[in-house]
Amino acid sequence: MTRKPIISGNWKMNLNHFEAIQTVQKLSYQLTKEDYAAVDVSVHPPFTDLRSVQTVLDVDEIPIKLGAQHCHQDEKGAFTGEISPAFLAKLSVKYVIVGHSERRELFGETDEIVSKKIDAILKQEMTPIICCGETLQEREAGETESKVLTQIRSALTKRNADVVSALVVAYEPIWAIGTGLTATSQDAQAVIGAIRAEIADLAGADAAAAVRIQYGGSVKSSNIAELMAMPDIDGALVGGASLETEEFAKIVQFRNVRS
Ligand code: PEP
Repeated sequence: MTRKPIISGNWKMNLNHFEAIQTVQKLSYQLTKEDYAAVDVSVHPPFTDLRSVQTVLDVDEIPIKLGAQHCHQDEKGAFTGEISPAFLAKLSVKYVIVGHSERRELFGETDEIVSKKIDAILKQEMTPIICCGETLQEREAGETESKVLTQIRSALTKRNADVVSALVVAYEPIWAIGTGLTATSQDAQAVIGAIRAEIADLAGADAAAAVRIQYGGSVKSSNIAELMAMPDIDGALVGGASLETEEFAKIVQFRNVRS
């Protein structure tokens, strides 16, 4: 089974809508038809940028996929400050990050809430990018797999194989996010391999062979090729380095980068 790599830029709370327009245009000058044919590329700007970025992608016919960083689990209601998945779908958002460790740690998102958000995103026919990962303390205590696989079970139990096949999972060791530390490609492969095996148990071998699993945590142009050479790593969720268009383009073009 060949899985098309997916490389996603999580801009977090960076770049206003003017800067977002410039960034996506600059990125599009650096990416080629061959890049888009080889790799799915998504950008995940802040909510206030989405409409502007959607317009640029549309008008300039840029095949970068629009992503969001978060959404609420309900379709509408009295949730001051929150954004409905239905609103995102109306803006042609294709991918929604869910369960990012910053949302879990800073905003109290539990496995239960993450699972509800996945339901809500799927209902709007968007694709969740489901994040999982362990803290440094958990890694040092030998609890990496139990933590990550518990998150995966909670997110994926009772979903049918077709749904699971089309999902994206992002394994992001929390200690590697924004720290400059990266898991070695072998360590990332070991955890991602275990995630795929767990998915085979939950949803069957075909779904496990089809689901795309990204690595995230200080991905740069200097380490992407080595990560992508691993058999179970299908892409990257990129934070800091996605704000630099040249660097992000080089990451997307990992096929040309020597490890
Ligand atoms: C992230 O926030 O998902 C992330 C991986 O960030 P960074 O690439 O900056 O470590």
